[in-house]
Amino acid sequence: MRLRLTFATSLLACITLALTTGAGAQPTYPTSWDTALLRRADVRAALAHVEQGMPSHIQEWIAIAEMPGKSRSESQRAAYVKKAMEAEGLRVSVDSIGNVTGVRSGTGGGPTTVFAAHMDIVHALETNLKVRRAGDSLHGPGIFDNSASVANMLATIRALNAAKIRTKGNLVFVATVQEELGLRGMNFWFEHNPKPDLLISMDGGLGPINYGALGIFWTKYVFTSPGSHTVTSRNKPTPVKALADAVQRIYELRFPALPEGAVINVGQIHGGVIYNGVPQELYFTVDLRSPDPILLDSLDRTIGRIVQDAATKEKVGLRVEVEQKNQAGGTTAQLEPARRHPLVQTAVDIQAQLGIVPLPGAPDAIATGSTDGNVGVVRGVPSIAIGRSYGGNQHTLTEWANAPSALPATKLVLLLAVTFGDGVKTVPQHPIP
Ligand SMILES: [Zn+2]
Repeated sequence: MRLRLTFATSLLACITLALTTGAGAQPTYPTSWDTALLRRADVRAALAHVEQGMPSHIQEWIAIAEMPGKSRSESQRAAYVKKAMEAEGLRVSVDSIGNVTGVRSGTGGGPTTVFAAHMDIVHALETNLKVRRAGDSLHGPGIFDNSASVANMLATIRALNAAKIRTKGNLVFVATVQEELGLRGMNFWFEHNPKPDLLISMDGGLGPINYGALGIFWTKYVFTSPGSHTVTSRNKPTPVKALADAVQRIYELRFPALPEGAVINVGQIHGGVIYNGVPQELYFTVDLRSPDPILLDSLDRTIGRIVQDAATKEKVGLRVEVEQKNQAGGTTAQLEPARRHPLVQTAVDIQAQLGIVPLPGAPDAIATGSTDGNVGVVRGVPSIAIGRSYGGNQHTLTEWANAPSALPATKLVLLLAVTFGDGVKTVPQHPIP
């Protein structure tokens, strides 16, 4: 409701401005979405195929979610996806890290559009992955993030084929590995393949289209000391005091909050093995995130200085291990050119067409993202992340997803494939708020 009011207000503002300036030429976000597509017989057939296929689509989704999928152990899921893609006649390859790539060749002269869905989950191999159905809800670890997208991807490929849709450009479907370890599979894919024209990451709940990249730095700070028996430990250097001092000072840092600022989380503190001794090794980890590359780097350096300072003061050793450094795409202002690429508004328009509404008050597109799409954003490839269904509690054992919402999510993938399969048109229609 609030969204409608805001839209009505801004529409009114636009009309008022147009009337007062006498100019009809408002700045617009270009879109490639053309409703004429919905009158094409093959497109209608593909959409109907998706719709009619929902019962088996949901079964396949559950089957994928019940396969082991911990990062680096995605092989069963990968083998399943490979077989399914081959059955649909795609040119399939598996790279050395485990990404499965299926190419649906175009007739020529169109852009290469990559659709990426990560197969891995965060849950340990021994986790019970059995999915429980309760009405429209599916419950199980990894059911939402990201088994839903893998199933949506396969359903899209089958619908394109069933309706014999031809595109000019190649549609490249990539089931990635190790996304949860810091987008490793997608980074690897970009290092070993020609740069695509467009990247659409299928990951996240249905809602705003993500066109940015939240920079993510993971660092482990390890304090070391020779150790000592408790009895002889008085006034001896101890990694415990250095760690406590460093963590305390990190949490005292002041900086703007997300979405434009940053967030810091100390997710792990480990070390020591006995009651009666000074630990020889102790570490904590930092998960630092920001969409702003300058703030991200400056906070990273500040944390590094704080930790070094704490180690020096306490006279203990320090070892720094960088787990991932995924760079930031930029703030909303810095990413304005990316917002103007038709990829973003097209996805927004198709979502509106399909009745996918962001939560009240939420924008229809946001300049951030924490998916495989980030890898394209920081390399200057027009990239977005789109939702797979509604759901929640991801990365927990109480994860759930709303099954019927995979239908509009899959139609969104299909319509993006058909639209951009024929090229990036620009049909300006949307006043910039
Ligand atoms: Zn995910």
